[in-house]
Amino acid sequence: MDRPGFVIEPIEAQPTAQSLASLVDSTRTLARPPISNFRVAAVGLGSSGRIYVGVNLEFPGLPLHHSVHAEQFLVTNLLLNGETSLTSFAVSAAPCGHCRQFLQELRDSENIQILIISDNNDQFTPLSDFLPHRFGPLDLFPEGSPFLLEPRNNGLKFTTRTRMDRDDEDENLRSNNGAVCNGHGTVVDDEKLKIAALEAANASHAPYSGSPSGVALDDEIVGAVLVEKEGAPVRQEETARLLMRSISATCSFQALLCCSDSNYV
Ligand SMILES: [Zn+2]
Repeated sequence: MDRPGFVIEPIEAQPTAQSLASLVDSTRTLARPPISNFRVAAVGLGSSGRIYVGVNLEFPGLPLHHSVHAEQFLVTNLLLNGETSLTSFAVSAAPCGHCRQFLQELRDSENIQILIISDNNDQFTPLSDFLPHRFGPLDLFPEGSPFLLEPRNNGLKFTTRTRMDRDDEDENLRSNNGAVCNGHGTVVDDEKLKIAALEAANASHAPYSGSPSGVALDDEIVGAVLVEKEGAPVRQEETARLLMRSISATCSFQALLCCSDSNYV
């Protein structure tokens, strides 16, 4: 397979350790690392039997901490496709420290089996071997919090202010005030994008910051909507604006506020 898709059904490839490993090299062609030129691919098996791929992404002009690592891409791919657990994955290079920690956000993460292609062996090793002294979600989660990939609903609604002041905000956009637009292109007025972004915010996994947010893009990346919680200690708007400029300079960008059900008026 020259260019594997991002999700492979079991009927297309037997979900075996060998198939995961064999897909890694061809998947590296999908990586987009224009800064480091270091391509990484991860190919993982979900509990459904489907195979998912992830690659590293870097964004020109932005610091490397804006990068998406292959393992993060892989987990996001699982999430977007409703997969509830990651059984194993093969990866072209050893997971960095951040990714080892990040993978702990999955339930029973210590049992995720990892094969590192660059090690030139065919042995899968559990994540617990990569993190012998673990500090993770169970040390920090509020009681009863769902892990990443598990269903959650943050109970967020658009704020009354957002709805009532829309006309005023649109006027701000036209004058390039910058409050809810990246200054490039025109205002997106796509209700579907806004609803999709709110749904993403409601599924957002942010147990430590208490700052859930979600974003929705249209297919051609000419419109984007970010929804985040009013008054949250962490705000994504400015960094998302930078990222959108890097990805699609003409993409219009709106940032909308939401609040939890209990605050909803
Ligand atoms: Zn990493």
